[in-house]
Amino acid sequence: MYIPDFDYHAPSSIEEACAILASYGSDAKVLAGGTDVLSRMKNELIAPKALVSIKNIPDMASITYVPGKGVVIGARVTHNDLVNSELLQQKYPSIPEAAHTMANNQIRNRGTIGGNLVNALPSADLPPILIALDASITLLGRHGKGIVPLEDFFIGPNRAAIEPDRILTEITIPDQPTTGSAYFKFGLRQSGAIAVVGVGVSVVASGAHVEQVRIVLGAVGPVPIRAKKAEQLLIGNLATEAALEEVGRAAAAECRPISDIRASQEYRRDMVRVFTKRALRKALHMQPAGEPVKIEGGNGDGMH
Ligand SMILES: Cc1cc2nc3c(=O)[nH]c(=O)nc-3n(C[C@H](O)[C@H](O)[C@H](O)COP(=O)(O)OP(=O)(O)OC[C@H]3O[C@@H](n4cnc5c(N)ncnc54)[C@H](O)[C@@H]3O)c2cc1C
Repeated sequence: MYIPDFDYHAPSSIEEACAILASYGSDAKVLAGGTDVLSRMKNELIAPKALVSIKNIPDMASITYVPGKGVVIGARVTHNDLVNSELLQQKYPSIPEAAHTMANNQIRNRGTIGGNLVNALPSADLPPILIALDASITLLGRHGKGIVPLEDFFIGPNRAAIEPDRILTEITIPDQPTTGSAYFKFGLRQSGAIAVVGVGVSVVASGAHVEQVRIVLGAVGPVPIRAKKAEQLLIGNLATEAALEEVGRAAAAECRPISDIRASQEYRRDMVRVFTKRALRKALHMQPAGEPVKIEGGNGDGMH
């Protein structure tokens, strides 16, 4: 596969990078890990005149806790950095768990959280769990800085609300009294397969009494979907097995799946029901009621 010539820039500051991007209009692309942008160029889907690498820009590759702000994840943080982050394992283990389900080791070593978000694939694994955790993103451009709730960032398949001269610099997860969060993904292989269905949830509960919940569905619509009606069924109520089943059904009614080579609409919808229930149980630290024996190495418990 042949890649046409392009200009290559590796600026050492955000300001310089934004100025270069602006000088090309929409003919330049940011280059992070390159796992998407380069393969699209090879497949002749895009032919940018320039690639602007962000590898030399400092302060974009760390995961830190900033008191009063929350956990701040630099856009250049790779998927394996997420997997290996002690801070995330301690505060939001659902993020390392989601990252671990992605692709393979080589892609996880190169692919970045910023690239995953800007790429805006409907099946992407990080958006559902990050939206469930109420994340926001910082976009920098020549005309200043914008902070956008991640929930509002996705406008269609492969389309994110970012102008060509802007760079996503960081993702912030605000401090919150989360009881638990979880991401459940169904792919066609144990790992390395893109999501047929992905469900991210976060819960604030006092015992079994649910005070707050966010449920976000991936791969079952053009953008990640907040299942708000399902959330409302649980807020202020007791998380019983029957309630979780009802919430799972409500979430299934809110998704907008398509049928494709990986699964039919009906199958996806039913998997939303099952995975919403499982994710909520996990986030609430509840034991599955009456489920079959767990199979080692499997996706977990049974399908009801
Ligand atoms: C074999 C394979 C398997 C995969 N499996 C999965 C999977 O299971 N789950 C999943 O979610 N994804 C999966 N992916 C997708 C991949 O992991 C993501 O697309 C990756 O995170 C992209 O990151 P990157 O740094 O390589 O982005 P790049 O390819 O460098 O960039 C992607 C896009 O984002 C833009 N961009 C990148 N960073 C920024 C920034 N900071 N600011 C502004 N724009 C930016 C680029 O211009 C480009 O348009 C898979 C990909 C491959 C090749």
